[in-house]
Formats: sequence, structure tokens, C-alpha cells
Amino acid sequence: MTQQSVIGLITRSSSKYRVNIIVDRCKECGICISVCPTKVLERSNILNKYGYHPPEPVNIDKCIGCKLCEYNCPDFAVFIEKVG
Ligand code: SF4
Ligand code: SF4
Repeated sequence: MTQQSVIGLITRSSSKYRVNIIVDRCKECGICISVCPTKVLERSNILNKYGYHPPEPVNIDKCIGCKLCEYNCPDFAVFIEKVG
């Protein structure tokens, strides 16, 4: 039987942008939270498999799609998509 790998994602969408967090890549450095100009992200209560809390897009409607979170995450754990 083939082992399938599943990527755990936290995903939130507004009418314009989708913020995705690859849960197990996050090392809880907090950079994405501090660089976001509109305070979309907050530390979540979710624990990844390494014992870190990934961010959660709690204010997704405030996302302006600037990708500062994506560009500044040292672990490539965040990516932004345009919706529609
Ligand atoms: S794309 Fe910009 S506004 Fe949206 S969550 Fe990332 S840093 Fe914040
Ligand atoms: S910048 Fe990346 S590694 Fe740091 S808290 Fe955000 S998602 Fe996690």
C-alpha cells in the first residue's frame, strides 16, 4: 500500500485573498504576525507536530494581499492566493 502524505493547512479566505498556513512548517517565530500591516494574523491554539503554535488569519477581511507574511516567513509556511 502506498503511503500518502497529507499537508495540514490552516486556510481562511476573504472575497479577495486566501491566507494559507502550512501547519507543520511553522516554528512560531512570530515574524508573519509582526510584519502584517493590517494585523490579520494571531498566534493560534493549534499545536503542530513539533510543538509550535502556527498563526491563524483571524482578521481575514483585513488582508490586502501584500504577501509580506509570505515573503518574510523563514520556513516558507505561509502563502497567499488571490481569490476570483
Ligand atoms: S498578505 Fe499582507 S495583509 Fe495579508 S496576511 Fe499577509 S501580511 Fe497581512
Ligand atoms: S513567520 Fe513562518 S515560522 Fe514564523 S510564526 Fe509565521 S508562519 Fe510560523
